[in-house]
Amino acid sequence: MPISEGATPIALVAPAVRPTRQARVAWGDKVVTVGGDAPVRVQSMTNTDTADVKATVLQVRQLAQAGSELVRITVNTPEAAAAVPLVREQLDRTGESVPLVGDFHYNGHRLLTDFPECAQALSKYRINPGNVGKGDKHDRQFAQMIEAALRWDRPVRFGVNWGSLDQELLTALMDENGGRAEPWDARQVMYEALVRSAISSAQRAEALGMRGEQVILSCKVSGVQDLIAVYRALAQRCDYALHLGLTEAGMGAKGIVASTAAIAMLLQEGIGDTIRVSLTPRPGESRTQEVLVATEILQSLGLRAFAPSVTACPGCGRTTSTTFQELAKQIDDYLRAQMPVWRTRYPGVEQLRVAVMGCIVNGPGESKHADIGISLPGTGEAPAAPVFIDGQKAVTLRGEHIASEFQALVEAYVERRFGLAAGAA
Ligand code: SF4
Repeated sequence: MPISEGATPIALVAPAVRPTRQARVAWGDKVVTVGGDAPVRVQSMTNTDTADVKATVLQVRQLAQAGSELVRITVNTPEAAAAVPLVREQLDRTGESVPLVGDFHYNGHRLLTDFPECAQALSKYRINPGNVGKGDKHDRQFAQMIEAALRWDRPVRFGVNWGSLDQELLTALMDENGGRAEPWDARQVMYEALVRSAISSAQRAEALGMRGEQVILSCKVSGVQDLIAVYRALAQRCDYALHLGLTEAGMGAKGIVASTAAIAMLLQEGIGDTIRVSLTPRPGESRTQEVLVATEILQSLGLRAFAPSVTACPGCGRTTSTTFQELAKQIDDYLRAQMPVWRTRYPGVEQLRVAVMGCIVNGPGESKHADIGISLPGTGEAPAAPVFIDGQKAVTLRGEHIASEFQALVEAYVERRFGLAAGAA
């Protein structure tokens, strides 16, 4: 059916852009900009005892190599604070320059003051306004931490969390609400408290001498709809860079789906300048899983590209063997394993699209859309697997070694298209 004259084309969709101030998180020559025109950044957090320097260095490195652009570490005791410069030093010695963020609660004012080398080794501080102290102490201890940020010229994230919300502020807002002719829903009062806590902390920090560009805000909650409501309000009321994440998202599929739903909705609206996926690792599961999910969210939305993508069909009754599942996994694992080296050797390789398909129904079509794709034979089809390169059928693989032969073709394609020699030509 021809498209009639004057028909309106279906609108293209892309994430909105929200202008924010830009923070600069740096270590040595490595500068990670957050907000403004910078890409949405990936963050993660270690779960090692920071005082255990060896374990912390190892995990920071793993997280950075998986794609985390900032890594947060707990700084909760004098031992942890004393270990921070050692962690930094060991990372530097092995060429790992990922900026470290210190996570402070309760005693941050003391640790940042008593351990200046710790304050210096960290590239950014996270302060939880709900855990700074009560009454008079709050303002004094808050000012002490801002003093450290000013002394070392470090950005600060004021990270509010509804699990540790400033109770004095919440009580005041609850009282205020009680006097309203038409009181708000208790959740709306909670939202207000979260947003006010974050913004008033930023304003207090600016009054103490910080620049707005040194400020990043977050208001984390564990419900998807709550997170969306709070961040929409936050984005409306300020132009500070925002760190986004669903707190205590949980484990496995639940944690991944809930985080993805919340973060993706907000990113599509242009809200969020850095993200963290707070997954509870299953016993034995790598901490890097949270980085993998974060990068996949950004890549799926078309905001960033971190690693070549593998398109694979889900399989169905037309493919009763597990050959294509195994090949898809093998190729996916292979591409990810190569990335630490490929990133520098093959600039742009993260844009590569590979397809591994199960049968003739969508196999050739999907493979032609990819840069390189293979359509495996489904049940009852001739045992041949055509490979498509740049939309053209290039070769047909047969026999026992289809997997390794396809992997070699992918490798050759990457070398030809992304190799430095190819770039120079
Ligand atoms: S491409 Fe073939 S095997 Fe894969 S889901 Fe579609 S019909 Fe099933």
